[in-house]
Amino acid sequence: MTTIVTPEVQKRIADNWLEVRADIDRACRAAGRDASDVTIVGVTKYVDASLTKALVDAGCTDLGENRPQVLWRKAEDLDDVSIRWHLIGSLQRNKAKRTVPILHRLHSLDSLRLAQTVAEITAMQGSVLPCMLEVNISGDADKHGFDPKILEAELFEIQQLAGLRIDGLMCMASLEHPGNEAAIDFQALRKLRDNLAAKSGLPLTELSMGMSGDFEAAIAEGSTIVRIGSRLFEGVR
Ligand SMILES: *Cc1c(COP(=O)(O)O)cnc(C)c1O
Repeated sequence: MTTIVTPEVQKRIADNWLEVRADIDRACRAAGRDASDVTIVGVTKYVDASLTKALVDAGCTDLGENRPQVLWRKAEDLDDVSIRWHLIGSLQRNKAKRTVPILHRLHSLDSLRLAQTVAEITAMQGSVLPCMLEVNISGDADKHGFDPKILEAELFEIQQLAGLRIDGLMCMASLEHPGNEAAIDFQALRKLRDNLAAKSGLPLTELSMGMSGDFEAAIAEGSTIVRIGSRLFEGVR
C-alpha cells in the first residue's frame, strides 16, 4: 500500500528534517566542528516510497536503507528523483551485482570475500565505489562487522583491490550500553581509525556513526556521517 502524503504529513516531515538539522548544527558547534563536515543520511527503512520521496522533497537527498531488496524497489520506484543511496545493512554476496550499481556509498563492508565480490563488479563497471568497513566495536554477539583485533590484516588485503575506495569505518553503538556510554564505542572506533590510517597509509577520513538516539555523542567523537531514521518520521508512521 502506498501512503498518501497529505500536506500535513509533508509539513511534519519537513519540520522533523529542520529540527534534526538544527540539533546536528548545535552538536557540531558544541564539539567545535563545522556543520558542513557532517553528512546526514536519512534512514528510510521504516517507510514506503512515497514517504521516502517526501523526505527528499523536504531537502534530504542522502538516503540509507539496510536491506538490499527494499533498496532495489525504492530505487526503481524513485528513479526520476535525485537520490544518493547508501547501504547501511549487510549485503549478501549474491545480491551485490544488483546493488552495487545503485550505490553512492557502502557503509557495511564486513568481510574480505564481500570486498572481493564488490571489486569484481566495479571492475566490470569501470567504476570505483566508496566503502567503509563495518566494525563490531562493542563485540556484541548479534552485531555484524569486522573484529577490531584482526582488522589491520584484513585491511591490508582489501586495500590491494582495485575498484574500492576504503575511506573510513562504520559502527553501531552497543545496545548493552544505555545512555551516554555510546560515547565509549564511538571513541573506540575513532581511535581504531586513527591507528589503521597510520598503519595503512589510507586517509580513512570518514566515520559513519550516530543514529537518532546518540548522534550528539558521535559528533563529539568525530563522526562525519550520521544515520538518522526514527527522528525524521516521528508523527507520520
Ligand atoms: C535503522 C538504522 C539506523 C537509524 O536508526 P534510528 O535510531 O532510527 O535513527 C542507523 N543505522 C543503521 C545501520 C540502521 O539499521
